[in-house]
Amino acid sequence: MLSTKLKLVDIEVHSRCNRKCWFCPNSYKEREFDFLGNNAYERLLQDMKDYKGIITFARYHEPLVNGIILYRRIKQAKEMTKAKLYINTNGDYLNETSLDMLNDCGLDVINLQLYDGYQQPFAERFDYGVKFDLYKSVPGWVEWRGKYKNIEIRMYWRDFKMNGVNRGDIKLSNRIRTSPCTQPFNVFIDYTGDVLPCCNMRGDINPEYVMGNINKDSIIDIMKSKKVKDFQKEMMTFEVKKGVCRTCQFGLFRNNIINKMLIKKR
Ligand code: SF4
Ligand code: SF4
Repeated sequence: MLSTKLKLVDIEVHSRCNRKCWFCPNSYKEREFDFLGNNAYERLLQDMKDYKGIITFARYHEPLVNGIILYRRIKQAKEMTKAKLYINTNGDYLNETSLDMLNDCGLDVINLQLYDGYQQPFAERFDYGVKFDLYKSVPGWVEWRGKYKNIEIRMYWRDFKMNGVNRGDIKLSNRIRTSPCTQPFNVFIDYTGDVLPCCNMRGDINPEYVMGNINKDSIIDIMKSKKVKDFQKEMMTFEVKKGVCRTCQFGLFRNNIINKMLIKKR
């Protein structure tokens, strides 16, 4: 069984995104079109049949670039696991047809990122009976919530110059990290099957962090491996972090007694 501490499994079903955002490795690194094979995917879902956390289709692709693969993968995950299913999308392929398909496949949540600024006239493009309510508005982050049929929609804009983090080999910070990080307790799977310990790493850019590959090994064996356990242990201290983690400012923990106790419990 997968660890009960696991809360998030992030899967890239194929390799493509239609955008090249400056804070994303897609801005300079092309990937040939390919997709995660069905056998590896079904084996993964079989190992996750009791998993009740989140499965999100996010990573470094725009999942709706190839809706046919995505709809199938969502449907399989719905049938084979108890997970809550999310996608992260830039919204470029959202329309009434794709929303209905996502709804029919059993998607639970859409994280819709407004990459062109929060003033972008999204309401005009998104007039499918969704009523959005403003949920949060702080410097660097504006967020609305809405619902389309059974799907919750979380639509947000963020200022990556203010709150972006290092990704792949793009460095947005030079501050040294001592904070622990809980990311390696989750699972991040590239379209190649490579398993990474963090959403900010990619197998082709950070190969030294590849923990295994689901085409060859089960996710259970990979998550129990010495490489994963050692990395999790290393990331649960208040020591200076190494490698790409050295200057990462993602999900910082404060160095206080409560945090130390929580971290010890992991
Ligand atoms: S941030 Fe998202 S939309 Fe932008 S290039 Fe990367 S994957 Fe594509
Ligand atoms: S410190 Fe940053 S790069 Fe390292 S595992 Fe955590 S989120 Fe990922």
